[in-house]
Amino acid sequence: MPHDPARVERIKENLAQARARIDAACAKADRDPAGVSLIAVTKTRPAEDVRILASLGLTDVGENRDQEAAPKAAATADLDLTWHFIGQLQTNKARSVASYADVVHSVDRARLARALGDRAEAAGRRLTCLVQVNLDGDSRAGVLGPRGGVDPADAPELADRIAEHEALELGGVMAVAPREGDPYPAFGRLYEVSCLIRDRHPRATAISAGMSSDLEAAIERGATHLRLGAALLGDRGPIVG
Ligand SMILES: *Cc1c(COP(=O)(O)O)cnc(C)c1O
Repeated sequence: MPHDPARVERIKENLAQARARIDAACAKADRDPAGVSLIAVTKTRPAEDVRILASLGLTDVGENRDQEAAPKAAATADLDLTWHFIGQLQTNKARSVASYADVVHSVDRARLARALGDRAEAAGRRLTCLVQVNLDGDSRAGVLGPRGGVDPADAPELADRIAEHEALELGGVMAVAPREGDPYPAFGRLYEVSCLIRDRHPRATAISAGMSSDLEAAIERGATHLRLGAALLGDRGPIVG
């Protein structure tokens, strides 16, 4: 079935606007836009949106719930996509996620790393994992629930655990900015954690930071991967689940 032309046009415009924001932020930070990769976050969106994004050349796709990601990845298996799992992950979902994900951004404990590695190995796959770092300054759940992530002080050790698993590749770090306050110091902190980890693992260069509302701050603080949902596909409405 051909794509809905209006939807294609809308996503194309959104993509052009997002790229303009990325270019402007890179110019300000004196960075090459080629060093900033774009991941389209397609949660709550139909597989058809994934197809439209691919037709526009965007083949890096992010999802935060296995229940939604697994069928969407299966429905688009004919496309050559790279799937990024970006949400909090229970260990009992490791088998499913390891079967379709290429990159897991949200590894925040050694037990999860081991489960993902063992499941990937059993499936004959290799998984790139990022250490999710908590930037809230308090890793306990806030009123709006936990955001996930390891304490910055514990991130290097978790990176070592990932790197030593045969089936895992340590890709770098990931974080979500605190809900309130200035994202610049938070992303600055993430950059420092990245430097510490790169001292021991020089190839772990990915810094996954920056969403629709804070991509400029992320780029100015060294992000290499942006995870954009609303900016590309429109508002999702009230958050559920
Ligand atoms: C939903 C989500 C995003 C995208 O957020 P937008 O504000 O829609 O750009 C990025 N990262 C994570 C972890 C998410 O859950």
